[in-house]
Amino acid sequence: MSKVIITVAVTGSRPTKAMNPATPYTPAEIADAAVEAHAAGAAIAHIHVRDPETGAPDSRLALFAEVLDRIRSRCDMLVNLTTSGLNITGDDVIARRLEPVSLRPELCSLDVGSLNFRDRLFANPPEFGVEAARRMATAGVKPELEVFDVGHIDQANDLIAQGLIAAPPWFQLCMGVNWGIAATPENLLFMRSKLPPGAQWSVLGVGRSQLAMITLGVLLGGHVRVGFEDNLYLRRGVLARSNAEFVEQAVGIVHMLQREVATPAEARAILGIG
Ligand code: MG
Repeated sequence: MSKVIITVAVTGSRPTKAMNPATPYTPAEIADAAVEAHAAGAAIAHIHVRDPETGAPDSRLALFAEVLDRIRSRCDMLVNLTTSGLNITGDDVIARRLEPVSLRPELCSLDVGSLNFRDRLFANPPEFGVEAARRMATAGVKPELEVFDVGHIDQANDLIAQGLIAAPPWFQLCMGVNWGIAATPENLLFMRSKLPPGAQWSVLGVGRSQLAMITLGVLLGGHVRVGFEDNLYLRRGVLARSNAEFVEQAVGIVHMLQREVATPAEARAILGIG
């Protein structure tokens, strides 16, 4: 088995400082959280940006650029900028969602498949997936294929069949989002069974399922994602004080299960990123 790539998703779009005071809002806070997580063992930082004043979900390119610069000036971890664009509306949604690709991070998320994401529609029309894959290929950015249910993997496989995704395809199996696939062991095994040959995959579990899903992911030979985007509690009733705490917890599981944690350089090699 390869070494385990730990991704830290430091803020996402939903957590607030009211929910957990350590939730990062400003570019400096977001970059600090990523760099601390890197020191704890994370090889990849998955980045959303917030309005620095209010913490509301934001999509300004200057905020993404500042976070990217701050991380790159301090460590060699890979950066994955989101293209989920949940706060973006209007006629040019696809173009605006894909603006972060122009900053040429190592990775960008690529959401295939639409779903009711708790209380809102997460719309990813077929033309978004195709356009995102093309733009990322042109920019030399590796897509992270985020899948929230089984059919999403079939759609990703269709993009791969069209030659739009460079090998190896890199999947994030997102388990336990209401109303995507539930975070159960049976479902993770089924999701994994649908992946194409040669795929590299990571798993995340939302909320209390985080620990169980990453543990099973490590056992099954996968990679894992942790962080405030997915979960705010280190254990029942105990808020995490930092994203790095989640990474330390993941590193402990990896070592307990006799695997090793990938450095950023090793993550680049595993994912075929030059
Ligand atoms: Mg995200």
